[in-house]
Amino acid sequence: MMETLEVKEKEAEEKAAVVETKDPVAEEKDPVAEVKGPATETETKDPVAEVKGPATETETKDPVAEVKGPATETETKDPVAEVKGPATETETKDPIQRERSLEEDNQSYFWIKYEGEQKISTENLVPGNQVYKEKLIIKKGVEFRLWDPFRSKLAAAIMNGLENFPFKNKTKVLYLGASTGTTVSHVSDIVGPNGLVFAVEHASRVARDFLDRVATHRSNVMPILQDARKPKEYFSVFGKVDVVYVDIAQPDQTKIAIDNCDMFLKKEGLFFLVIKTRSIDVTKAPKRIVEEEIQKLREKFEILESIDLHPYDKDHAMVIAKYKN
Ligand code: SAM
Repeated sequence: MMETLEVKEKEAEEKAAVVETKDPVAEEKDPVAEVKGPATETETKDPVAEVKGPATETETKDPVAEVKGPATETETKDPVAEVKGPATETETKDPIQRERSLEEDNQSYFWIKYEGEQKISTENLVPGNQVYKEKLIIKKGVEFRLWDPFRSKLAAAIMNGLENFPFKNKTKVLYLGASTGTTVSHVSDIVGPNGLVFAVEHASRVARDFLDRVATHRSNVMPILQDARKPKEYFSVFGKVDVVYVDIAQPDQTKIAIDNCDMFLKKEGLFFLVIKTRSIDVTKAPKRIVEEEIQKLREKFEILESIDLHPYDKDHAMVIAKYKN
């Protein structure tokens, strides 16, 4: 369940509460995750977006037939109001009370008004700890980390109206392509101390940063320095997981992902596949690439939705599917 934090604008209090960001590591940029600036005119010409505009009533009947387009002009003005609806009475509760009832509420992420805009955030599992220079905001004694949709494709999908969000307290996740841990860290916040994120990364330099920034600080993150093509070598994964999230940007990643799901995803578990529409085959149109990858999933998965990540990320789409096996 998503909730909106109605944060009264008390400028003085805001200033005092925002923890000044200092890069926790020497390297300023996430070496792998692409840092995108705000949408430009060029970005809006992304072929995925052009082919798949915002959903119409007919389009939503077949999640495969459409890759959800970016928010419309109206939507981008207030993603909270447009995408998630206005705040409810529950949503305006004190964040500390919500934290205490997290188990019952399945609270996942929060909307915080910051610098005049509604931003996504997660409650920091490790107060005071930053992962990628994100803002830390304290509200009524609870610390939140702003979740940057230009740095995390999962946050971009939320901004673009993601409907299936299985990450919650206690969720067990297998995450392929941890990189330096931007998205993993927010998933770790959400699943909490009783959840688990098995995070697979094969590049040793990146993995070192991931350990420094994320895994050493978070007991619910299990780093697995392995090739995702060899799921049998993940000795630390035990039992089945609720969610498999795949973002490895490999031409054969759908096959790799399916092999991992066959080994570790529970029946009816959810599968998130980030498709880098330009890396798989540069000669093909992005829309076709997404459709071809979806076709490979149909035998074992029910396709739930497909989201274009533009304008936050112009080269990727995300497919969410349910495992039928
Ligand atoms: N998911 C990350 C995030 O949101 O913060 C970004 C992932 S980045 C696009 C892709 C990552 O997948 C890279 O760090 C790369 O080293 C890793 N990767 C690529 N192929 C892999 C493989 N076969 N096994 C494990 N990791 C792999």
